[in-house]
This record gives sequence, C-alpha cells and structure tokens, in this order.
Amino acid sequence: MALSVMDGMSTDTPLARALVDTNRRRDALATRSYPKPGRTRVLTVANQKGGVGKTTTTVNLAAALAQNGLRVLVIDLDPQGNASTALGVPHHADVPSIYDVLVDAKPLASVIQPCPDVTDLFCAPATIDLAGAEIELVSLVARELRLQRAITAYLESQGDEERPDYVLIDCPPSLGLLTVNAFVGADEVFIPIQCEYYALEGLSQLLKNIEMIRTHLNPRLHVSTILLTMYDARTRLSAQVADEVRTHFGAQTLRTTVPRSVRISEAPSHGQTVITYDPLSTGALSYLEAAGELADRGAPVARG
Ligand code: ADP
Ligand code: MG
Repeated sequence: MALSVMDGMSTDTPLARALVDTNRRRDALATRSYPKPGRTRVLTVANQKGGVGKTTTTVNLAAALAQNGLRVLVIDLDPQGNASTALGVPHHADVPSIYDVLVDAKPLASVIQPCPDVTDLFCAPATIDLAGAEIELVSLVARELRLQRAITAYLESQGDEERPDYVLIDCPPSLGLLTVNAFVGADEVFIPIQCEYYALEGLSQLLKNIEMIRTHLNPRLHVSTILLTMYDARTRLSAQVADEVRTHFGAQTLRTTVPRSVRISEAPSHGQTVITYDPLSTGALSYLEAAGELADRGAPVARG
C-alpha cells in the first residue's frame, strides 16, 4: 500500500517522507495493545489557561481508549459543555447533568449517558446550570468533596463488568470550586500544554495549587501525565517549548506530541471526536498513540 502511493515519486521529498511515516504509525497502531489498569484510574485534565486543548484531549483520549477495549467515563465539569458536545451527548438545560450531582447530591449513575458513536464510552454532561454551581457550592457542606463522594459511591456501586477503567474529568479554565472538586475527586492530574510562547507561564501557579490540594484535601493527587499539544514541527518555538517541558518533566511527558490539525478542530462541530470523524488523520493517530502510552503506564506491574 505504502509503495503504490509512492510509485513514480522520489522518497526524498517531505511529502513522501510524511506518507511513509504515517503508514508506519498506522501499522504500529493496528497491533498495539491497550492494557487494562489494575483499578479504575481517575484523571483530571487541567490547565487554568483556556484554549490549550483540555477538552480536545479529554474527549479524544477517551474515545481512543474506549475504541481499544477499555471502558471510559468522561465527566464534563465545564459549564460550556464542550466535552458533551464533542461526544454527541445532549446537554440542553433540561438534561440531568453533573450540576444535579454536585449541587443536589444526585447519584452520578443517574446522569450518565452513552456516547452514540463509540461503544463503552460514557459521559456525565454539563449544562449551562453549572455556571451557577461555582457560587452555589460555596454555602454547601463539604463543598470541595462533592464530586469525590459521587465518584467513589458510583465506582463502588458498579459490578466489575460495568465499572469504568478510566474516568476523565474535563475542567473549566479557572481554579475555582469546580476545579477544586475535580482535583479532590481524582488521583492523577493530566496537563495538556500548548506548544506556544507563554506556555509555561501559569504552570507554576497550577503546580502550587495542586500541591495545596495535596496537603489539605487529597494526599493521593499527583501530576502523572503531560501531553504537548498543537505542536508545529516547522517552528523552532514548538521544539523549544517541548525541550523545556521535557527538561523539567521528563518522566511525566508523553513521547507522543499532538500536531496542529484542522481535522481535530472540525470534529466537534459534527458532534464527534477525531477518532471517529477521521480515524486515519494524523490527529487521530496522535491521540491513539498518546492513549496507548497512557494505558501502558497504568498497566498492572507483572510479578515474576
Ligand atoms: P480548552 O478546553 O483547554 O479550552 P479546547 O480543547 O477547547 O481547549 O481547544 C481550544 C481550541 O483549539 C478549539 O477550537 C479546538 O478545536 C482547537 N484545538 C485543540 N487542539 C487542536 C489541535 N491539535 N489542532 C488544531 N486545533 C486544535
Ligand atoms: Mg474546555
């Protein structure tokens, strides 16, 4: 296949090299395994900057994991409801949503909907009500712990077959009570970093906040994973940002980087992730590879 595309073409052009590379990646993904974690992994996808790819990363990783045999729940914690939209899940004002869970202590199971395009992918949607929750939560008891309690009760109520392997929480771009709930409810923080100038600005504030949550509210919380997004291989800036992130966070940073891709940005307007919208695009390949790395890191350690 790769060769027929290349007929009559020099292999020494950038386009030809890109084609060879894409075919090689597709072949590798076709036989890749996505190991189940020993227990449910709960990750919060966070970065207080807006527009860095939190939602895009949440929904595409979720779809990539689910498409490869894992059970995944996305909790949409952003009042914009962009994750719900991208997963094709209704989230108009009347839909039972994560607001009811946080503010009225409804069981999480009662608001979860299946994603219509991907088996084993589920979503607890966000409606516009959630915009008010930031303020309504202030006067409620255990205001920082409400999501944690809901997730714990949900996981305990599910049988082994139904319990998700992954719970991914999509955060709003702020460090208010919704994000605090997400940090308290998770074990791991997943930080997408956009490869652009100022990318690292604000990161130290985020890390300080995570440290504070760890000290006072959730000792399990740690930054487990960093993903470089909107990487532009043609610019020196992207490479510099990537180098700097890897210097400081070598262990956490995935080898895969996600390129800037029109297909990735088009997918949500079709109520889809890029994994179903254009599965052979480089954007889809990157998220499938990143999901594979994430799954590998969560695999139970084999005992000899
Ligand atoms: P956040 O949730 O952090 O605010 P989003 O995931 O909504 O960020 O992304 C912000 C914008 O950038 C969206 O319009 C999204 O479609 C677009 N986008 C995200 N990742 C990519 C990418 N790799 N290539 C091109 N556009 C992207
Ligand atoms: Mg978002």
